[in-house]
Amino acid sequence: MDLVVTNCPCGASGGYDDCCGRLHRREADAGTAEQLMRSRYSAYVVGDDAYLRWSWHPTTAPSALTLDPDVGWRRLEIVAVAGGGLLDVDGTVEFRAHHRLGFLAETSGFARHDGRWVYVGPVDPA
Ligand SMILES: [Zn+2]
Repeated sequence: MDLVVTNCPCGASGGYDDCCGRLHRREADAGTAEQLMRSRYSAYVVGDDAYLRWSWHPTTAPSALTLDPDVGWRRLEIVAVAGGGLLDVDGTVEFRAHHRLGFLAETSGFARHDGRWVYVGPVDPA
């Protein structure tokens, strides 16, 4: 019997299906900007470009998105979170997305659009 429980790509324990998978399948909406950030990182890992476009603000979303499977995503590190809570209308998440050659660092801006969190784009750190 295989008792290995793999973590979600975003780093949360409990597995992909019950974590970011629920968001990718649109069974749940992200409650916070950080949760959306985590689900978007996981979408890069599993190659869900449709979810990435869906969770992008329509004014900044690219019309097409090509994911590079050779990036070799390793793990997500949340550095700082400002706003983006259950009662907020916007917020930022500073993160490092580690890949096989180093890491990508960004402070991402998030906002509510039609009542759900969406990614707007990179912002200058506060
Ligand atoms: Zn997750």
